[in-house]
Amino acid sequence: MLERLKDGLTNFRNVTYEKYKHLYHDLEQEQHPHTLFIACSDSRVNPERLLDSQPGEIFMVRNIANTVPAYELSQNDPTTVASIEFAVEVLGVKEIIICGHSNCGGCAAAISGQENLTHIPFTQHYLKPLESVKEKLEAHNSFPDENAKATQMEHMNVIEQVDHLKSYPNIRKRLESGTLEIEGWHYDIKSGNVFIYDETTQSFLKSEEYQSVQ
Ligand SMILES: [Zn+2]
Repeated sequence: MLERLKDGLTNFRNVTYEKYKHLYHDLEQEQHPHTLFIACSDSRVNPERLLDSQPGEIFMVRNIANTVPAYELSQNDPTTVASIEFAVEVLGVKEIIICGHSNCGGCAAAISGQENLTHIPFTQHYLKPLESVKEKLEAHNSFPDENAKATQMEHMNVIEQVDHLKSYPNIRKRLESGTLEIEGWHYDIKSGNVFIYDETTQSFLKSEEYQSVQ
């Protein structure tokens, strides 16, 4: 194991654990997370630090490009689907956040095209559903530069995955009864800002602005 990670374990046990000892004891038998957070596996995305959340608060699903298969394609990714089902039906989370991020390699790979992924066939297969997002991106938009195009792809991908989530009958039922909320986020690594998709204006608003209009 890397020495740096070993030191981290020692620091966790001696400092962090001691500080939150009561919390860890309370959490020993069961969890009651309020939020399911679906994020990219990217190492630069650190949800618990981003949210300043404590153990027990967030149930996490992470995969390349923070995807959720559409209901009719649910068998394509049983891990993600089962994790969502468990979070909603067993743990009873009240909120689901799908969080994309800047410079996402999964979205960039989708933009570059399926034909460039033949050397990583599992990833190629996994990212296939993003083809339709790429097509929508290229059909309806022109971009000042590649960076703007990449950001738009990441935004559209978040919106697409939120739509996929809403295609599940159990999720839709809970949305309609008001017992569940879904938000689409985009985390900008460079600035540290999170932008939240606002359905009314169909735009991503800085988290502070989003709260003020709710
Ligand atoms: Zn990513």
